[in-house]
Amino acid sequence: MNVSNCKSCGRLFNVISASKICPDCQRKLEEKFQEVKEFLKENPFANIDVLSQECDVSVKQIKEWVREERLVFAEGSMDGIECTQCGKLIRTGKYCDECKVKITNNLRSGINAPVKAEPVKKERERDRMRFLQNL
Ligand SMILES: [Zn+2]
Ligand SMILES: [Zn+2]
Repeated sequence: MNVSNCKSCGRLFNVISASKICPDCQRKLEEKFQEVKEFLKENPFANIDVLSQECDVSVKQIKEWVREERLVFAEGSMDGIECTQCGKLIRTGKYCDECKVKITNNLRSGINAPVKAEPVKKERERDRMRFLQNL
């Protein structure tokens, strides 16, 4: 049996999932999450600091929930989390809309890149041949 120390309370527990905290703390965290979610529903313009104080949850934990897209800041809210790519304030997830588009485009060109790369290399070799012939 895989046993590990709970990252939250330090107690030993049997690891059943990828979770780093024990089932007890997981349940408590889930209750906290519901509390934060309710609070945000009633106070859509509350910022992270207020949420953290009112619900007694760490700012880091709240941001994690927002990253996981479990929490979403209201449209027009003055607070949010930073886009991991450009640092712009976003309401949920990891990237702002602009970066999302960029990342999707990069992925697409990434697939095409190896196909394009070959002719360029051949052309360069031809140039070198020409250069040698001119010597
Ligand atoms: Zn625990
Ligand atoms: Zn961005």
